[in-house]
Amino acid sequence: MSILIKGVELEGKTTDILIEGKYIEAVSEHLPDRANKIIDGKKKAIIPGLVNMHTHAAMTLFRGFGDDMPLMPWLEEKIWPNEAKLTDEDVYWGAKLACLEMIKSGTTAFFDMYHKLPATAEAVEEMGIRGMLSSACFDNFSPEQAKKAKVITGELFRKMGEYSERISFALGPHAIYTVSGELLQWIDYYAKENGLPVHIHLAETEKEVQDAVRQFGLSPVRYLNRLGILSPRLMIAHGIYVDEEELQMLADNGVKVIHNPASNMKLASGIQFQFAEMRGKGIAVGIGTDGCSSSNNLDMIEAMKLASLLGKGWRKDPVVLTADEMLFAATRQGADMMNLKAGRIEEGYLADLCLINLNQPAFTPNFNFVSNLVYAANGSCVDTVICNGNILMENRRIPGEDEIIQRAGEIAYNLIKR
Ligand SMILES: [Zn+2]
Repeated sequence: MSILIKGVELEGKTTDILIEGKYIEAVSEHLPDRANKIIDGKKKAIIPGLVNMHTHAAMTLFRGFGDDMPLMPWLEEKIWPNEAKLTDEDVYWGAKLACLEMIKSGTTAFFDMYHKLPATAEAVEEMGIRGMLSSACFDNFSPEQAKKAKVITGELFRKMGEYSERISFALGPHAIYTVSGELLQWIDYYAKENGLPVHIHLAETEKEVQDAVRQFGLSPVRYLNRLGILSPRLMIAHGIYVDEEELQMLADNGVKVIHNPASNMKLASGIQFQFAEMRGKGIAVGIGTDGCSSSNNLDMIEAMKLASLLGKGWRKDPVVLTADEMLFAATRQGADMMNLKAGRIEEGYLADLCLINLNQPAFTPNFNFVSNLVYAANGSCVDTVICNGNILMENRRIPGEDEIIQRAGEIAYNLIKR
């Protein structure tokens, strides 16, 4: 399969882009009209597919269920009791809805943590995007549960090998308040042995820090440092409560960080995420939305805007966290963090791409495309999405979308009633 995108705007210049199989074959001003499929790029701009670095895909089912609550009562009263009822079918349709929403807003890859991993994998497989999937792992400090978690991890790792190259496996210890130090160390060992990433919620709330100091005698990053599990494999979601010395620990050990501005603001976890400081120390920082019950959408264009505005706001500095830096974090940086040869529109890179419709108010005038994309637009500006060389959405239509919306809606109501 080959696709030729004719006359599209790339970084301010009009160009043609040829895709052969799953890769970008050529980027040049005038390419011959020879391809299985030709897309007219007139009044469209092209960007690399967005990478959402922190999601709980099937939590689309809990969108708008239990808003305006503090984190722990929200988890304990609304989320965990309903998550305990989830079936494979529920997760499958929730994840389908998440993939639909992500494709509609230009995301081509995401880093997930959830339950019933094979159900999410099935959804990702069918929808055509990329998922790095980690199974939320808890032992609640019980050696019995830790033993079970280890067995399940091995089973899931083998099972995930059965899916296509678009799906990869990662380890997902939920947080330091739900996973024992012993299990965290085992997970780190397993990840190292098998070359897998580790996804954890860390330093998200003040309460987490206070509890860590009380329980382990150390703040969250220092605690992981003492356990010896800070490494380039580790990706921490949130990382709001990190002092100067801890920033250095993260940098020295190559730990990667994921900023989730919508979730942090909505749950009032904290706003002083040290994006610029982390980048200054060479720490890779990606952007995520978090699950749909705390964000309440999966729109990465909105997430870029929030990350920038939030960072400018608390610092009282309009110069930091530019639109270009946000787009870098949400594309190239995310792709690198997921170990994908993507995030760049160059020959030899994966054809994970989005066409943006410029024929709309948010892009008029278009003095600065990236500024308009980050600050003026939202996910609905995405017109066409290509992942792994396949067209997933064209002219905003995705095959089967009506059924997904209907089924996922029904499933969500049934789940709450059950
Ligand atoms: Zn999360």
